[in-house]
Amino acid sequence: MLLESDGTTPVQSEPNKDYRPPIAMTSSTTNERIYNFSAGPAVMPVPVLERIREEILCLPGAGASILEISHRGKDFIEIQNAAKQRLMRLLGVGDDHEILFLQGGARLQFSMIPINLRRGPFDAAQYVLTGSWGVSAVEEARKEGPIDVVYDAKDTNYDRLPAASDLRVNPKAAYFYITSNETIQGVQFPGDLDLSGPPLVCDSSSDFLYRPYDINKYGLLYACAQKNAGPAGVTVVVIRKDLLERSASDLPGYLSYQNHAKADSMWNTPPTFAIYVLGLVAEWLEDTVGGLKAMHAINREKAALLYEVLDQFPQFYVGHARPQDRSLMNVTFRFSKPEFEKQFLSVAKANAMDGLAGHRSVGGIRASIYNAMPMDGVKALAELMTDFARTNA
Ligand code: PMP
Repeated sequence: MLLESDGTTPVQSEPNKDYRPPIAMTSSTTNERIYNFSAGPAVMPVPVLERIREEILCLPGAGASILEISHRGKDFIEIQNAAKQRLMRLLGVGDDHEILFLQGGARLQFSMIPINLRRGPFDAAQYVLTGSWGVSAVEEARKEGPIDVVYDAKDTNYDRLPAASDLRVNPKAAYFYITSNETIQGVQFPGDLDLSGPPLVCDSSSDFLYRPYDINKYGLLYACAQKNAGPAGVTVVVIRKDLLERSASDLPGYLSYQNHAKADSMWNTPPTFAIYVLGLVAEWLEDTVGGLKAMHAINREKAALLYEVLDQFPQFYVGHARPQDRSLMNVTFRFSKPEFEKQFLSVAKANAMDGLAGHRSVGGIRASIYNAMPMDGVKALAELMTDFARTNA
């Protein structure tokens, strides 16, 4: 150790291990980033990426990377608890619900939901089909038992939501299932469904945390993280605690919600890195954006910019969803002359905008404008769409 000039030992100030600056944009490394309109895995908040970069070699106070530490150690347990607390605050989760961090993506939930929830003296689970993901969920659920499809928008090519009068709810159904945002078709329920009777189960994979919720309306709300909440690898399940009693004791261990709840999502090794990033995204939403109400206002503003262009050039752009059922997350449209599609995608790419091709099952264009898509990215796309229509219409 070097001594002071008077021969004394320098006074060392203790580094404050707990201090972390707020998540904020700090550098100019964003220069090479394009505007990424991919449906998922999707754009992440840049300040979150910067925080990961800062901490990837050594998590403050842990002496090692998040990729290297035990899930049973104090440092990770703190990270997981903090992520859970933030989600509880953002979603307004109280004592009635449990938050689980699972793997297997949203698709595993297509099976886990019927496997856990339909056992008991219940009628067939009810499903509302407003797009491709609901259809896939039903395919899996049918393997577990009979299903009652209450509404299916297939005849109109999944361009709409049901009217309230279409929803024939059976109070004795095991549960009532909706997909809050159909990622492929761009059709979205604008708020929480009011339901009396069976527990409402909601696949919120592509609009998780995009607006405030009344979580008490949900029996089970779930989302894979890789669209609106973090990287691929973790799926969040918010489940009403009384429903945990439905998990039969002879289920394969991983498939039982009850097992995961009892073990606080540590029944087996959880996806530690994905949970860490999910926690940072929740921190960004809460402390930087200012919560889900603020996020919702921004999301409405962003989506309006793109839908205004569609409505301004109705002879040129053909929106997929009925205007009243449009998604704030996935803006889907095609060209009245399909030959423009390729050209549009290549002009967009030349202007640093990518990920805009529609899902391979439906084609057309899909602009995914999740929470982390900056307003400037949406403005750039709206401008491009306007110019493109003016030039080619
Ligand atoms: N549900 C919805 C609404 C989705 O958008 C997706 C993925 N695009 C899934 C389920 C399937 O998610 P995963 O790939 O994580 O299984």
